[in-house]
Amino acid sequence: MDASKDAGGEAKPFADRPAAEPVPVRGDREAATKLLVALRARYEADAPHQHFVTDHHSIVFGEGDPCARLMFIGEAPGAEEDKTGRPFVGKAGQLLDKMIVAMGLRRDEVYICNVLKTRPPGNATPTGREAELCKPYLIDQIRIVNPEAIVTLGLPASKTVLATEATMGSLRGKFAKVKFPAEKGILKSVQSLHSEGLEIPVMPTYHPAYLLRDYTPENRKKVWSDLLQVVKLLGLTPKASAAE
Ligand code: URA
Repeated sequence: MDASKDAGGEAKPFADRPAAEPVPVRGDREAATKLLVALRARYEADAPHQHFVTDHHSIVFGEGDPCARLMFIGEAPGAEEDKTGRPFVGKAGQLLDKMIVAMGLRRDEVYICNVLKTRPPGNATPTGREAELCKPYLIDQIRIVNPEAIVTLGLPASKTVLATEATMGSLRGKFAKVKFPAEKGILKSVQSLHSEGLEIPVMPTYHPAYLLRDYTPENRKKVWSDLLQVVKLLGLTPKASAAE
Protein backbone atom coordinates (compact mmCIF):
# COMPACT_ATOMS: atom_id res chain seq x y z
CA MET A 1 0.00 0.00 0.00
CA ASP A 2 1.12 3.58 -0.71
CA ALA A 3 2.63 4.72 2.64
CA SER A 4 1.33 8.24 2.13
CA LYS A 5 -2.32 7.00 1.97
CA ASP A 6 -4.45 5.35 4.66
CA ALA A 7 -6.39 2.07 4.21
CA GLY A 8 -9.23 3.89 2.45
CA GLY A 9 -6.83 5.48 -0.04
CA GLU A 10 -7.18 8.95 1.53
CA ALA A 11 -4.06 11.12 1.74
CA LYS A 12 -2.67 11.10 5.31
CA PRO A 13 -1.98 14.36 7.13
CA PHE A 14 1.44 15.83 6.37
CA ALA A 15 2.92 14.80 9.72
CA ASP A 16 2.25 11.11 9.03
CA ARG A 17 3.93 11.01 5.64
CA PRO A 18 7.45 9.82 5.14
CA ALA A 19 9.98 12.67 4.99
CA ALA A 20 9.91 14.34 1.61
CA GLU A 21 13.11 16.38 1.89
CA PRO A 22 16.17 15.15 0.02
CA VAL A 23 19.10 13.94 2.07
CA PRO A 24 22.00 16.38 1.77
CA VAL A 25 25.59 15.28 1.59
CA ARG A 26 28.23 17.86 2.50
CA GLY A 27 28.04 20.53 -0.20
CA ASP A 28 24.41 19.89 -1.22
CA ARG A 29 23.39 23.49 -0.60
CA GLU A 30 19.89 23.21 -2.02
CA ALA A 31 18.93 20.26 0.17
CA ALA A 32 20.53 21.78 3.27
CA THR A 33 18.66 25.06 2.64
CA LYS A 34 15.34 23.20 2.39
CA LEU A 35 16.02 21.32 5.59
CA LEU A 36 16.93 24.52 7.46
CA VAL A 37 13.68 26.11 6.25
CA ALA A 38 11.74 23.03 7.45
CA LEU A 39 13.57 23.13 10.79
CA ARG A 40 12.77 26.80 11.30
CA ALA A 41 9.10 26.11 10.51
CA ARG A 42 9.12 23.31 13.08
CA TYR A 43 10.75 25.60 15.65
CA GLU A 44 8.11 28.28 14.99
CA ALA A 45 5.29 25.72 15.33
CA ASP A 46 6.70 24.22 18.54
CA ALA A 47 7.79 27.61 19.95
CA PRO A 48 9.87 26.08 22.78
CA HIS A 49 10.45 29.61 24.09
CA GLN A 50 6.77 29.74 25.14
CA HIS A 51 7.83 27.63 28.13
CA PHE A 52 10.08 30.34 29.49
CA VAL A 53 9.88 34.08 29.74
CA THR A 54 11.18 35.98 26.74
CA ASP A 55 11.05 39.55 25.68
CA HIS A 56 11.35 39.05 21.97
CA HIS A 57 9.97 40.59 18.80
CA SER A 58 11.57 38.19 16.36
CA ILE A 59 12.93 34.69 16.10
CA VAL A 60 16.66 34.83 15.37
CA PHE A 61 17.13 31.39 13.91
CA GLY A 62 20.56 31.60 12.30
CA GLU A 63 22.15 32.65 9.03
CA GLY A 64 25.01 31.94 6.69
CA ASP A 65 26.15 29.23 4.34
CA PRO A 66 23.93 26.14 4.87
CA CYS A 67 26.99 24.04 3.98
CA ALA A 68 29.55 26.09 5.89
CA ARG A 69 32.85 24.52 6.87
CA LEU A 70 32.73 26.48 10.12
CA MET A 71 29.85 27.21 12.48
CA PHE A 72 29.76 29.75 15.32
CA ILE A 73 27.32 29.29 18.18
CA GLY A 74 26.51 32.05 20.65
CA GLU A 75 24.12 32.11 23.61
CA ALA A 76 21.07 34.21 22.67
CA PRO A 77 20.07 37.23 20.59
CA GLY A 78 20.49 40.70 22.05
CA ALA A 79 18.58 43.91 21.33
CA GLU A 80 19.98 44.53 17.81
CA GLU A 81 19.50 40.90 16.84
CA ASP A 82 15.91 41.00 18.11
CA LYS A 83 15.28 44.13 16.05
CA THR A 84 16.75 42.73 12.84
CA GLY A 85 16.07 38.99 13.19
CA ARG A 86 19.77 38.32 12.47
CA PRO A 87 22.37 36.80 14.81
CA PHE A 88 25.43 38.76 15.94
CA VAL A 89 24.76 42.13 14.32
CA GLY A 90 25.30 44.33 17.41
CA LYS A 91 28.66 45.35 18.89
CA ALA A 92 29.63 41.78 19.73
CA GLY A 93 28.68 40.81 16.18
CA GLN A 94 30.95 43.47 14.73
CA LEU A 95 33.83 42.02 16.69
CA LEU A 96 32.86 38.52 15.57
CA ASP A 97 32.94 39.77 11.95
CA LYS A 98 36.53 40.96 12.52
CA MET A 99 37.45 37.59 13.99
CA ILE A 100 35.99 35.79 10.96
CA VAL A 101 37.92 38.02 8.54
CA ALA A 102 41.11 37.55 10.58
CA MET A 103 40.68 33.80 10.17
CA GLY A 104 40.68 34.24 6.38
CA LEU A 105 36.93 33.81 5.85
CA ARG A 106 33.95 36.00 4.98
CA ARG A 107 30.86 36.18 7.16
CA ASP A 108 28.70 34.70 4.40
CA GLU A 109 31.01 31.67 4.26
CA VAL A 110 30.27 30.59 7.84
CA TYR A 111 27.02 29.68 9.63
CA ILE A 112 26.11 31.66 12.76
CA CYS A 113 23.40 30.86 15.28
CA ASN A 114 22.62 30.81 18.99
CA VAL A 115 21.46 28.27 21.55
CA LEU A 116 18.34 30.36 22.26
CA LYS A 117 16.51 31.74 19.25
CA THR A 118 14.70 34.51 21.15
CA ARG A 119 16.02 37.38 23.23
CA PRO A 120 15.88 36.79 26.99
CA PRO A 121 14.53 39.73 29.02
CA GLY A 122 17.31 42.15 29.85
CA ASN A 123 19.81 39.91 28.01
CA ALA A 124 19.72 37.47 30.94
CA THR A 125 22.03 34.47 30.70
CA PRO A 126 20.03 31.46 29.45
CA THR A 127 19.24 28.94 32.17
CA GLY A 128 20.11 25.26 31.76
CA ARG A 129 16.41 24.45 31.30
CA GLU A 130 15.98 27.06 28.57
CA ALA A 131 19.06 25.78 26.78
CA GLU A 132 17.84 22.17 27.02
CA LEU A 133 14.44 23.10 25.56
CA CYS A 134 16.15 24.68 22.53
CA LYS A 135 18.99 22.19 22.15
CA PRO A 136 17.22 19.67 19.85
CA TYR A 137 16.78 22.42 17.24
CA LEU A 138 20.44 23.41 17.56
CA ILE A 139 21.49 19.78 17.13
CA ASP A 140 19.50 19.55 13.91
CA GLN A 141 21.04 22.82 12.68
CA ILE A 142 24.45 21.27 13.28
CA ARG A 143 23.47 17.97 11.64
CA ILE A 144 22.13 19.78 8.56
CA VAL A 145 25.05 22.21 8.10
CA ASN A 146 27.53 19.46 9.02
CA PRO A 147 30.49 21.82 9.50
CA GLU A 148 34.06 20.61 9.76
CA ALA A 149 34.46 22.59 12.98
CA ILE A 150 32.34 24.52 15.47
CA VAL A 151 33.38 27.48 17.64
CA THR A 152 31.25 27.96 20.75
CA LEU A 153 31.29 31.54 22.00
CA GLY A 154 31.15 31.86 25.77
CA LEU A 155 30.11 29.59 28.59
CA PRO A 156 26.36 29.06 27.96
CA ALA A 157 27.01 27.89 24.36
CA SER A 158 30.03 25.82 25.37
CA LYS A 159 28.18 24.14 28.26
CA THR A 160 25.19 23.35 26.05
CA VAL A 161 27.14 21.93 23.13
CA LEU A 162 29.72 20.04 25.20
CA ALA A 163 27.16 18.95 27.84
CA THR A 164 29.51 19.91 30.64
CA GLU A 165 29.54 22.02 33.79
CA ALA A 166 33.25 22.86 33.42
CA THR A 167 34.46 26.48 33.50
CA MET A 168 35.27 28.57 30.43
CA GLY A 169 38.89 28.86 31.52
CA SER A 170 39.28 25.09 31.53
CA LEU A 171 37.36 24.51 28.26
CA ARG A 172 38.78 27.19 25.97
CA GLY A 173 41.68 26.53 23.66
CA LYS A 174 41.14 22.76 23.49
CA PHE A 175 39.24 20.95 20.76
CA ALA A 176 36.54 18.65 22.10
CA LYS A 177 35.23 15.92 19.79
CA VAL A 178 31.47 16.05 20.20
CA LYS A 179 28.94 13.52 18.94
CA PHE A 180 25.60 14.83 17.68
CA PRO A 181 23.28 11.81 17.67
CA ALA A 182 20.17 11.80 15.49
CA GLU A 183 17.85 10.93 18.39
CA LYS A 184 18.80 14.16 20.18
CA GLY A 185 17.44 16.22 17.28
CA ILE A 186 13.83 17.00 16.44
CA LEU A 187 13.07 16.65 12.70
CA LYS A 188 12.40 13.12 11.41
CA SER A 189 13.88 14.01 8.01
CA VAL A 190 17.20 14.96 9.65
CA GLN A 191 17.45 11.66 11.48
CA SER A 192 18.39 9.79 8.32
CA LEU A 193 21.51 11.93 7.86
CA HIS A 194 24.93 10.70 9.00
CA SER A 195 23.89 7.13 9.72
CA GLU A 196 27.58 6.47 10.39
CA GLY A 197 27.35 8.89 13.37
CA LEU A 198 28.39 12.50 13.46
CA GLU A 199 31.38 13.75 15.45
CA ILE A 200 32.63 17.32 15.03
CA PRO A 201 35.60 19.11 16.66
CA VAL A 202 34.34 21.95 18.84
CA MET A 203 36.56 24.83 19.96
CA PRO A 204 35.19 26.80 22.92
CA THR A 205 36.44 30.36 23.21
CA TYR A 206 35.47 33.54 25.00
CA HIS A 207 32.35 35.38 23.84
CA PRO A 208 33.11 38.58 21.87
CA ALA A 209 30.90 40.51 24.34
CA TYR A 210 33.20 39.38 27.15
CA LEU A 211 36.21 40.48 25.09
CA LEU A 212 34.61 43.89 24.58
CA ARG A 213 34.09 44.24 28.33
CA ASP A 214 37.66 43.23 29.06
CA TYR A 215 39.56 44.18 25.91
CA THR A 216 43.03 43.38 27.21
CA PRO A 217 45.91 42.22 25.02
CA GLU A 218 45.99 39.06 27.13
CA ASN A 219 42.34 38.11 26.43
CA ARG A 220 42.66 39.01 22.74
CA LYS A 221 45.73 36.81 22.50
CA LYS A 222 43.88 33.89 24.09
CA VAL A 223 40.94 34.14 21.68
CA TRP A 224 43.23 34.54 18.68
CA SER A 225 45.25 31.48 19.68
CA ASP A 226 41.97 29.48 20.01
CA LEU A 227 40.87 30.64 16.56
CA LEU A 228 44.27 29.90 15.07
CA GLN A 229 43.81 26.25 16.00
CA VAL A 230 40.61 26.27 13.94
CA VAL A 231 42.40 28.07 11.10
CA LYS A 232 45.00 25.30 11.13
CA LEU A 233 42.44 22.50 11.21
CA LEU A 234 40.59 23.97 8.21
CA GLY A 235 43.79 24.86 6.33
CA LEU A 236 42.82 28.54 6.06
CA THR A 237 45.13 31.45 5.38
CA PRO A 238 44.70 33.88 8.27
CA LYS A 239 44.82 37.64 7.83
CA ALA A 240 46.64 38.26 11.07
CA SER A 241 46.51 42.04 10.69
CA ALA A 242 42.70 41.92 11.06
CA ALA A 243 43.15 40.45 14.54
CA GLU A 244 45.17 43.40 15.79
N1 URA B 1 25.34 37.57 21.70
C1 URA B 1 25.00 36.31 21.37
O1 URA B 1 25.33 35.36 22.06
N2 URA B 1 24.34 36.13 20.23
C2 URA B 1 23.98 37.13 19.42
O2 URA B 1 23.38 36.86 18.39
C3 URA B 1 24.36 38.43 19.80
C4 URA B 1 25.02 38.64 20.94
